[in-house]
Amino acid sequence: MVIDNKLFNKYKIYIIYMKFMNELTYENYIKRNQEDIFHTKFDNAIESLTKEFNNEDYPVIINNEKIYTRDKYKHISPVDRRIILGYVSKISDRLLNEAIDSSFQSFKEWSKLDYRKRIRILKNVANTIRSNKFQLAALLIFENGKNRYESIADIDEAIDFINYYCSNMIKNNGYVTINTSIERTQKNISIMKPYGVWGIISPFNFPAAIFVGMNIGAIITGNTAVAKPASNTPIIGYKIVEIMIESGLPPGVLNYITGDAVKIGKTIIKSKKISGIVFTGSKDVGYTLYKKSANIKSRPIIAELGGKNPTIVTMTADLNRAAEGVSRAAFSYGGQKCSACSRVYVHKNVKKQFIERLILNVTKINIENSDNRNCDLGPLINSDAFQNFKKYVDIASHEGKILYGGKIMNEGDLKYGYYVTPTIVEGVPFDNVLVKKELFLPFLCINEFNQFSEALNLCNKSEYGLTAAIYSKDKKEIDDFVNNIEAGVVYVNRHKSSTTGALVGNQSFGGWKNSGISGKGTGGKYYLTQFMREQSQTIVE
Ligand code: NAD
Repeated sequence: MVIDNKLFNKYKIYIIYMKFMNELTYENYIKRNQEDIFHTKFDNAIESLTKEFNNEDYPVIINNEKIYTRDKYKHISPVDRRIILGYVSKISDRLLNEAIDSSFQSFKEWSKLDYRKRIRILKNVANTIRSNKFQLAALLIFENGKNRYESIADIDEAIDFINYYCSNMIKNNGYVTINTSIERTQKNISIMKPYGVWGIISPFNFPAAIFVGMNIGAIITGNTAVAKPASNTPIIGYKIVEIMIESGLPPGVLNYITGDAVKIGKTIIKSKKISGIVFTGSKDVGYTLYKKSANIKSRPIIAELGGKNPTIVTMTADLNRAAEGVSRAAFSYGGQKCSACSRVYVHKNVKKQFIERLILNVTKINIENSDNRNCDLGPLINSDAFQNFKKYVDIASHEGKILYGGKIMNEGDLKYGYYVTPTIVEGVPFDNVLVKKELFLPFLCINEFNQFSEALNLCNKSEYGLTAAIYSKDKKEIDDFVNNIEAGVVYVNRHKSSTTGALVGNQSFGGWKNSGISGKGTGGKYYLTQFMREQSQTIVE
């Protein structure tokens, strides 16, 4: 068979784009027996970054132009409050409306651009982030306190989102399909078209991955956007938008806005030029945006919200695996993950052994400055979280039994950051705030059960339904669990972590019940469709 060269080249490009593979930086260094190289690269990146901490000003970006506002806020590191990371511009209402106008203007051209051209730009973005991954990960360490393994994974996930969504666009032919036609002279086509300008609001805990994921979702599908990072993590977002611009993103496609969250939220909601809002954050803020937006106009709201994620440990569980999985899920990044495990229901016959093993795992967690190679657990994000920790420890000491932790870390330099110990509490009743509310802290509540159905009911009693897990060797229990658990992301007998660690393209990530609004997970095959509306075209010859 003779292959037409032009056609071959065209498809070769598609095939390269389509073959999605997770980045997995640290895992790949380990596989290649190069852990030392990984650490050297990280140490070098940290060293050169710390030289940069010189009270720099950070602008907003409108129409690809950097604008430094006079009004700014001081941005300090949770790792060490003596480190000033910079001064961040606070956008005014007038400038924010200019940013929205600029996105509105650029929509006309960007939405009409062939999606393959959009992909080419975004592939450049992914490649540039990849080339700078250690520098960006080092920044994350100081900006949101993750250790180096979690930081690099956050950057990896950002790259994964871009590559995965590019491959989704290509696989789906830009979301254009030919429909059935009962008449030969009639052609029926379904085309997914972008809405317009999106308001994008990100949380602090995955300031690279989630920020990039939501932005790419909007712009790869032909929308434009105004994007706000969390107030605690504005620099990483800024660096990524800089990379996007250097990679060829036209002016106005993505405008970067920082400042007062409540004011920005109000203006975005009020603006009729905003055609959709994508939000990841707490349930309360997400709900407020959702309700208020509905009063202004009809438009899609994609919201990924909080969780209160349970793990069931049954009588037949591999207790070592369960203890390791729960310890990682509850305490990695200090429980500051929407997927963190915060409730364990353990069968009463194995409770004692499970708790012993869990505590054994938890005692091995190194609490250190996040820039230290040996750090497992760094600081909480800010003083509010720190105060909450103290408040909930106090409640725990009255309402249950603290089995481990509950302490503030004050030794040495740790006193300059928001460092606390992992905390395990037993026997707090279900209707207590500690079991019901998402605390977003390294705080785990353990309760025992007799009957499996009882554990399942307790899991499902929560208003949230994000992730959930079980450790069991009983097939019936496992079947019961996967068939009845009310959660969007479900794990069985996972060693790595009971409820956290979803990977783009492997586990689509989205919440049920009060954990999300749209029911379609990020990093999954239905995600992009939410940023487009369908047009059915019937063309008669
Ligand atoms: P948050 O709700 O406090 O803030 C999220 C974003 O909203 C930030 O950018 C913040 O500045 C902004 N914001 C706050 N008040 C606002 C208002 N009135 N109007 C507009 N914007 C406003 O959440 P956070 O503390 O940054 O992140 C933690 C929360 O995010 C947790 O509840 C966690 O479960 C959730 N989360 C969910 C997922 C998911 O995929 N389901 C992923 C990550 C985080």
